[in-house]
Amino acid sequence: PPDAAAIKNGSLEKSFRPVAGSVLQTSSRHDLWYRLELDSNWSGTQPLVLSFRDSLSARVWVYTPPTYQPHLLWLLKVDRQARFSRHALAEVLPAGIGAGQPIYVRLGQDDYGKRTTARLTGLPAYQAADLDHVRLVTLFASIQAAMVLVGFSLWLVLRDRLLLYFIGYVGTQLIYSMLVNGELYELPGGSLFALLGTRGNWPFALISAALSISFIIEFCDLRRSTPRAARVFGWMRWPQLAAVPLFLLPLGRLEPVALTVLNLLSLTASMWAIATVALALFQGNRQARFFIVAWMPQVAFTIFCVVQLLAGWQQPTWIEYGFPLTMAFASLVVTLGLADQTMHVRRERDIADHLARHDPLTGTLSRRAVLHQLDIAVAEAHRSDQPLALLFLDVDHFKSVNDAHGHAVGDRCLQAVVASASHEPRTGDWLGRLGGEEFIIGLPGATRENAHLIGERVRVRIQAQHLQANGHPIQLTASVGVAGLLDSHDTADALLERADAALYKAKAAGRNRVFIHPSLAAIVSN
Ligand code: GH3
Ligand code: MG
Ligand code: MG
Repeated sequence: PPDAAAIKNGSLEKSFRPVAGSVLQTSSRHDLWYRLELDSNWSGTQPLVLSFRDSLSARVWVYTPPTYQPHLLWLLKVDRQARFSRHALAEVLPAGIGAGQPIYVRLGQDDYGKRTTARLTGLPAYQAADLDHVRLVTLFASIQAAMVLVGFSLWLVLRDRLLLYFIGYVGTQLIYSMLVNGELYELPGGSLFALLGTRGNWPFALISAALSISFIIEFCDLRRSTPRAARVFGWMRWPQLAAVPLFLLPLGRLEPVALTVLNLLSLTASMWAIATVALALFQGNRQARFFIVAWMPQVAFTIFCVVQLLAGWQQPTWIEYGFPLTMAFASLVVTLGLADQTMHVRRERDIADHLARHDPLTGTLSRRAVLHQLDIAVAEAHRSDQPLALLFLDVDHFKSVNDAHGHAVGDRCLQAVVASASHEPRTGDWLGRLGGEEFIIGLPGATRENAHLIGERVRVRIQAQHLQANGHPIQLTASVGVAGLLDSHDTADALLERADAALYKAKAAGRNRVFIHPSLAAIVSN
């Protein structure tokens, strides 16, 4: 750059560009020079801040009186002495600057030929607005960072690939937005990102877009609900990924064209996503609801921006926060969706667990659960030195009920037997179906004598039922075998076998009766 002396002796005078108002323009061919001057002397006690905004990625050199030493302002410049955020390229002007003391600005070449507005603001006002900006971008970035951490913690436990897509897509989106607002360059290690150049944010936007497609397809299970639209959607990842190396190429004036193509690509993918997911939603896809809520603001905002750019509307100031806000919102809603999915899976697991533990016809414990419960009860009885008794119940001549009235009536009879039998057990006791028309009642804490009484009551209840099928009365009875746990060497299998043997005796003795296994007598007679 020309030195201070060249500027002072006026040898650069011819190269200055006329300025209309305070709007400066970059050139895609070479650097441009501007001379700025205050209309009147500045009488404020606070210094003034000269700033350039509108996402300017070009280098800017500012020459201020009295020394006119060039000072470089650049989004990618790592400056530990920086007094402001990177919301704008800003320079504090010397105190007491007035009309007739020009400021020279050299705008670096920029492939977009961007327009930027030079602004003068009092230092306190500039700092206050700058702090507001920092609060907002930090808030949005923290929300996204928090979601990445939540996703990562979940992944550590669940190891679900879906979570990796989520971490990847939100994480790269976070890096992208922190490169765009420039704050990442100032974080520890962030200066490395400056090596990627002004287009360093492109690869992150592209990878984020591709990962978000993988995430949406999997999250909404689109391959199942809308297979063809999902396949096309999946293809849309490839141009995005193929475009990643673009940021390294010397694009020159093709850069704005490339950027437009990439933007259109991303817009197409977003619209396709909305259409596909809407279709899935229409087919009753549960996860699609979350996605629609999460993505709609972002897509609506993108469309708004495109329209606004095409129509050349004035950019409202809040628009720069639109993207970070909708991104933070989307990651929040999607995290809720992940939590909802986890809950859904848990509920399904509970249902599967219930089905495995319960007999579908009668609703009592299944054979597997009964045997498991018996093992636990035997171990507990040994540990606490408490008695344990078992009732083994079998419906009498049940085959003839089926034969006479049909299987469906037989089923209803089994339900009626369970209804009667479940009146007797108390808390801690359990009832289950071992198979067919055979049931087990476990009675922890009960002696064989107690158990005999309970078995007798169950038998009477079953006999007392008034069942009918097509106007014909059905008389159900049941036989019950009773056995109790013996010494500490006794096992669940042996106990069950003795109850079964007692049942066999009850049947042999004429049915509709309760029979106690004569364990003690057997021991005595040995
Ligand atoms: P016993 O007095 O000797 O026990 O005679 P039973 O006819 O009850 O004996 P058996 O064990 O020979 O017959 C049991 C019948 O139970 C055979 C089968 O048709 C019926 N059964 C088994 N499971 C079901 C079921 O789930 N529903 C219905 N309706 N019947 C069943
Ligand atoms: Mg039987
Ligand atoms: Mg039977």
